[in-house]
This record gives sequence, C-alpha cells and structure tokens, in this order.
Amino acid sequence: MDYYITDNGKYVTVAKFAPDASGTPQDVYTIMGGSCDCPSPQRPCKHQRLVNQWRKHIEKNPYEFGYYFDDEDGKFHELPF
Ligand SMILES: [Zn+2]
Repeated sequence: MDYYITDNGKYVTVAKFAPDASGTPQDVYTIMGGSCDCPSPQRPCKHQRLVNQWRKHIEKNPYEFGYYFDDEDGKFHELPF
C-alpha cells in the first residue's frame, strides 16, 4: 500500500492507495490531537507512527515536497508528478 500524508496545521490526514492506483484513495484517516480515527485498537496506530516518520523525513529533506510512503519497501518516495 502507498500512503500519502498531508498536514494542514489543524489535523493530519493519511490517505491509503493501492499500489499503482491513481485517483481515489481506499481510505483516509484523520489524526487530530494525537488520536487517529482508524478502527485499529493499537495505539499509537500504524498511521500515527507513519506521521512521526514522515515528520522526521521532512526535517531531513526540507527542500523536497510531496512524499508517499510505500509499505512494501518501508520507505518514503517523492511523488511522481
Ligand atoms: Zn490510525
């Protein structure tokens, strides 16, 4: 799965896409005030951990914008557009 994260300052969304899919995400999760609206009983959930990784990645790569996370290789990649 590919995950695309956006932070609008008030909340963070994690959109989940099937690999090579364009257009509509399969799911979109919202993280606000340290909690995620996904149904996972695990806290922090996968999405919260992903957002933390994403923030670290952006700190180290401040001049690059737009990443998605591929959970097959466990890495962030630049968006192909
Ligand atoms: Zn979650």
